[in-house]
Amino acid sequence: MDKRIIEAMEKIVGVDWVASDAEKINSYITDETEKAIAPVPCFDCVVVKPVDANEISEILKYANNEDCIVIARGGGTGCTGAAVPIKPSIIMSLERLNKIIDVDDANMMVECEAGVTLFDLEDTFKKHDSLFFPVHPGDEGAQVGGMVVENAGGVRAVRHGVMRNQIKGLEIVLPTGEIIKTGGKLLKDNTGYDLTHLMIGSEGTLGVVTKAILKLYPKSSNSGSLLVSFDDKAKAVEVVPKILREGITPLAAEYIERDFMLRSAKDLGLEWPAKKGIVDLYFILDEPKEEQLYETSARIVEICDENGAVDSLIAETAKEQRTILEIRSHGYPSVQHMVVDILDVAVPVSKIMDYMNGIDELAEKYNATIPSFGHAGDGNIHNFIMTEDGEKPEGYEELSKEIYKLAVGLGGTITAEHGVGKVRNERLGIQFSPKHLEIMRGIKKVFDPNNIMNPGTGIN
Ligand SMILES: Cc1cc2nc3c(=O)[nH]c(=O)nc-3n(C[C@H](O)[C@H](O)[C@H](O)COP(=O)(O)OP(=O)(O)OC[C@H]3O[C@@H](n4cnc5c(N)ncnc54)[C@H](O)[C@@H]3O)c2cc1C
Repeated sequence: MDKRIIEAMEKIVGVDWVASDAEKINSYITDETEKAIAPVPCFDCVVVKPVDANEISEILKYANNEDCIVIARGGGTGCTGAAVPIKPSIIMSLERLNKIIDVDDANMMVECEAGVTLFDLEDTFKKHDSLFFPVHPGDEGAQVGGMVVENAGGVRAVRHGVMRNQIKGLEIVLPTGEIIKTGGKLLKDNTGYDLTHLMIGSEGTLGVVTKAILKLYPKSSNSGSLLVSFDDKAKAVEVVPKILREGITPLAAEYIERDFMLRSAKDLGLEWPAKKGIVDLYFILDEPKEEQLYETSARIVEICDENGAVDSLIAETAKEQRTILEIRSHGYPSVQHMVVDILDVAVPVSKIMDYMNGIDELAEKYNATIPSFGHAGDGNIHNFIMTEDGEKPEGYEELSKEIYKLAVGLGGTITAEHGVGKVRNERLGIQFSPKHLEIMRGIKKVFDPNNIMNPGTGIN
């Protein structure tokens, strides 16, 4: 990396907060994208760790004047290579912006800096007596800023939605260095174009998020989980919209293929509690009163039984719930070495079955292994393209293209929560018209006239 750039960074943040040696920057140039599809990282980078929005503003002014690429770095848990530098870049780590500024009980909102991790946010609300924050992508190393710009979802989105539904205000440093604030602790705000929502899902291409105001919810002490088994995939996915239509909105409604769980449980030396059937639906419930928890559980089981469930199990104790969660969370790590790509499409909930049938047909056509796992309550099933050695199988490009076309043809989207990053850009034309893409590129140019923020990511 150019010595002048390193010195300029040292002048802004101090020598202790700048690193350019290969061994020090190693952990800042990759993310959690599967190896087979991850972009090749560029080592010619400098990592800089500002402490506040003012330092970030100085860095961006410098980069904009000198035409340097800047990549904001959160927890590096992204799955689409968005945080991976592919050209010489200034990698701006947000890790020092780690303060929870205010938990506002009266307005039920939390204001925090962008580098606060999901772990710290969870921990804060574990200790809080009456409020909680619902969004929970699977890796607690993710930071609030990364969750904002990736519009993160996760298992608990069925009832409360994704990040977009929680973000009430932001502090942003623009690529040209100005600091702006959007929104506030408001439940209604109709003034002008909504820049908060433009930033959500912008994947670090429109500016750096430095603070966020997030919505909170009353905590309920009556939570439980339910595992319902089916011997037919179709029956399992078809039952989810039926449950939602009855006005029952669980915190989570996950679709789990049994093979995955058996492998995961074996890895951990634990036992997956369901024995009958080949797939499970896993519901997490959270109700204000204990009787409601039992009533809702019973009704879900009843609806599932009417639709062909072969077994059900209520995890009542904390230990039982922990075992299921532990095995479920280990599902991905247990097969990680075999995974080529985790697709992240979403379709309308009513179309999940058509989508799954389409996946079965494509698996047969390409002689591929594509198990499914994921957020049935949101229409967001993750399909894992897998091979024995985790290398791309023959026909991979065509196969993934056909999966995207299948989803879009059913009224769906090519990515529900992981984003476009640097691995799905080529596929944007499947979903958007040229005019749609032109408008988005125009917006990028207004925010970032010199294209310094994370080029090659998302629509740009
Ligand atoms: C095991 C596992 C499970 C996961 N499960 C889910 C899940 O269920 N649902 C889900 O939605 N995601 C999931 N993810 C993906 C990931 O956790 C989310 O995308 C998360 O939001 C990324 O946050 P991060 O801080 O790690 O961002 P990073 O990976 O560091 O960065 C992602 C992008 O955000 C930009 N960025 C980061 N911080 C800022 C900032 N302050 N300002 C501007 N741009 C910024 C980066 O430049 C990059 O473009 C999972 C990941 C793993 C590894």
